[in-house]
Amino acid sequence: MAWCTRYRARRINLNRCFASLTPKWNDGSGVGLESFEDSRITLAPSKERKAVHLPEEIGSPRITHKSTRFTGNDVAKAKADGGSDMFDEIRQRFLEFKSNKFLKEVAHFQNLARAQSPKFMVIACVDSRVCPTNVLGLQPGEAFMVRNVANLVPAIEFGPSETGAALEFAVKALEVESILVIGHSRCAGIEALMGMQDSNPRNHVERWVVNGRAAKLRTEVTAPHLSFDQQCTHCEKESVTQSLNNLLTYPWIKDRVEEGLLSISGGYYDFVDCTFEKWNLDIEGSGPNGGKRYSTKDHQFWC
Ligand SMILES: [Zn+2]
Repeated sequence: MAWCTRYRARRINLNRCFASLTPKWNDGSGVGLESFEDSRITLAPSKERKAVHLPEEIGSPRITHKSTRFTGNDVAKAKADGGSDMFDEIRQRFLEFKSNKFLKEVAHFQNLARAQSPKFMVIACVDSRVCPTNVLGLQPGEAFMVRNVANLVPAIEFGPSETGAALEFAVKALEVESILVIGHSRCAGIEALMGMQDSNPRNHVERWVVNGRAAKLRTEVTAPHLSFDQQCTHCEKESVTQSLNNLLTYPWIKDRVEEGLLSISGGYYDFVDCTFEKWNLDIEGSGPNGGKRYSTKDHQFWC
């Protein structure tokens, strides 16, 4: 299934076969949450990493001002070497990046080679249409990023996850100042979540998107009059706020938020009319777990 590239017309057919889910589907993971949380994890390298072997300064075989413009001869050579047209274009874009960006800002990129110190941690969907680097103009070194189906942050009770690992590194080692969770329009992951109707997830996607179950339930309770498509849109935003609340289930995030060292924000990119919404979780008015109450504040609408 081509996730996040679906058409609304086939939404119900794809997802109506799923029923409601129990929150304990992953209890058999064999991972003891308590022991996992108690363990001290040394995150290396830190943003202060010193043992980095850089290429020589300008003139190194790896950093050169040699013209990198892509030519017709390059295309012919790539084809002769077995390259495909698809990768020819990607190669051209890379060489243009090297010529127009890397080599023009080589000092900056050499600093980045020594260490990264991003201010943002971004969590976004895997959808090919919503790349935050493009949509928000994020530059190399600005944002630590993880992308998953439906841009979900699981509560800590879920256990180890790729998203949890990225959060841990970003918050503990890189000490990012802001976490931004970005949802988007016409999300197939949220569509799958809203369409689930049984208690036995039958594939990886179902087992993952069930992390947004509280947002689905809130949507069904607060917007029962809406059509399925409209409920999906509602849940696309609701799940972002739930993810913000789930962030607070990680004690090393909650502590930094309460100390004023870390902010957490939600975003929503609508690629139909190209607008962006941003809001913050109202920490004072929110409960500690994803299924409990939470409220938002500071809404902005960029258009
Ligand atoms: Zn999506």
